[in-house]
Amino acid sequence: MNKTDFGRHLRAWFRRHGRDLPWRRTRDPYAILVSEMMLQQTTVAAVVPYFERWMQRFPSAGALAAAEESKVLSLWQGLGYYRRARNLHAAAKKISVDLRGEVPRDYEGLRNLPGIGDYTAQAVRAFAFDQPVPVLDANVIRVVARLFDLRAPVDTAKGLGKVRAKLEELLPAQGGYEFVSAMMELGALVCRAGRPDCLLCPVKEFCAAKHPEKLPIKAPKATIKKRTELAAWVWDGEAVLLQQSTARRWVGLWRLPPLEGEPPAGPAAELTYSIVRERVTLRVHRTTKRSLMASAEPRKAFSLRELESIAIPSPHRRAIAKVLKDRFDHGSHR
Ligand code: SF4
Repeated sequence: MNKTDFGRHLRAWFRRHGRDLPWRRTRDPYAILVSEMMLQQTTVAAVVPYFERWMQRFPSAGALAAAEESKVLSLWQGLGYYRRARNLHAAAKKISVDLRGEVPRDYEGLRNLPGIGDYTAQAVRAFAFDQPVPVLDANVIRVVARLFDLRAPVDTAKGLGKVRAKLEELLPAQGGYEFVSAMMELGALVCRAGRPDCLLCPVKEFCAAKHPEKLPIKAPKATIKKRTELAAWVWDGEAVLLQQSTARRWVGLWRLPPLEGEPPAGPAAELTYSIVRERVTLRVHRTTKRSLMASAEPRKAFSLRELESIAIPSPHRRAIAKVLKDRFDHGSHR
């Protein structure tokens, strides 16, 4: 493949068709870092309003570093995977205290920030500092696997190594920002998962895929486990009792207190949510404070108004909303 011609076609297409996204209007490394942390495991459409609110509230690493953790988590609420918010907060502190407010430009420096893995480090180098480096997100992996008709599973080290090697062959000598953005955009808009729009593809003359809809190949999936979580609804007429988690997944967040043993009555709310390789059914049962098991985690009752400003894991917030909706719909005072 002639990489110069390939890059020329790709960039020309991107200039005409690339989406106007808020993090594409800036090269501020802090803003890029924020967007990349938010975009991990979350869609572009969901991230846009969060990114805009965040940048208004915390426009610099210094502003974020000076904020209380509860304010940071509260603004993150709804994006899920709160560890990203904590890591971003810790990274901002390190940048503003140890690095005099400068986001590192080099791979090692970026990897030394909390929560920055290979992908995010490379993305910041490309988008903030215009470095031509391999940024391997799901879109880029799919495009490369198809362009080169790669048959190794891309979720194995060997398969991903092949993708990286092929991508490195395509990288331009300079202009990482535009090249990487264009590859990602091609994957998002044309070379999509499932059935790609090959007729509209600006680089189809360079593509070796025979059955692109079957690529990329993935290793067989691990089975999803099912699990049930019981939680308590303790309501005194004005406030609901919550418990501050110390468990790794939700550390610092206020959740409905866990319920041990047999539930006292049928669930007041039930919903399901997914975490890595698990499908969890959350059942919320009405009970009293006295019937809860003792816990080292702090408990506190919050009024409806207070619930709006504290960080609550999304499934528990949804469960609270369900019980409250039911309470108001049926006029119950429990
Ligand atoms: S020709 Fe089709 S499969 Fe190949 S890169 Fe373009 S959209 Fe993807």
